[in-house]
Amino acid sequence: MGKLLLDLHIHSVLSPCADIMMTPGNIIKKAIEKNIDIISITDHNSIKNVKSALKISKNKKIKIIPGIEVQSKEDIHLLSYFENFKNLNSYYELVYEKLSNIKNDEEKFGHQIIVDKNDKFVGKEDKLLMNSTNYSLNELVNLTNRFNGIPVPSHADRSFGLIKNLGFIPEELNIKYIELNFNKTILQYYKQYPYLKNFHLINNSDSHFLNQIEPKIKINLTKKPTTKNIFKQINREQPKNYIITK
Ligand SMILES: [Zn+2]
Ligand SMILES: [Zn+2]
Repeated sequence: MGKLLLDLHIHSVLSPCADIMMTPGNIIKKAIEKNIDIISITDHNSIKNVKSALKISKNKKIKIIPGIEVQSKEDIHLLSYFENFKNLNSYYELVYEKLSNIKNDEEKFGHQIIVDKNDKFVGKEDKLLMNSTNYSLNELVNLTNRFNGIPVPSHADRSFGLIKNLGFIPEELNIKYIELNFNKTILQYYKQYPYLKNFHLINNSDSHFLNQIEPKIKINLTKKPTTKNIFKQINREQPKNYIITK
């Protein structure tokens, strides 16, 4: 496989906060333009554009990792990545059931648009997705692990982030990876939060607009680019070698 460029945190038009241009087709086109090899579309508490994205990516020079970003009852965001759509869907069904039943107010929060494999509008999600589920972060991490997924607390050092909201990382949390905002260097992070040395740091764009999509991780992969193999490779390398910052 050789050197791969990744951006594993991108929101589609299904997320109310994402731009109307963020259709899976447009995201894939932009990612290919940027030479990104692997992306993940991680909408808030939903996966309804992932299947179309997987179909659109077929026969294209890009791979999509099935993912989602879920909000815990402590208002902490957690990314979960799975090996296949089936496992993602099993996790999603449990999550959606426990998402507060509040109707989306499009004027206030934005549109939650579902598209088909031709990138065409097919419907809208009615339940407000920018909201908490009734699971604790620890429960979400355990559920992700139960479906053989990889849990990664998102943007840990900014709003809706683990470190920002709790001030520490609970010991019982069964996680290996942490996504950071990367508004500072790796060394500055280690200085400010020495315990981060016990985790593998992840960088992603968290794109809500097409022009925010950028390669954020580069890894050398000799094996098949499965979700497990990608994260195993991140395990093996030093953050300074795989994290891309500006
Ligand atoms: Zn988030
Ligand atoms: Zn996000």
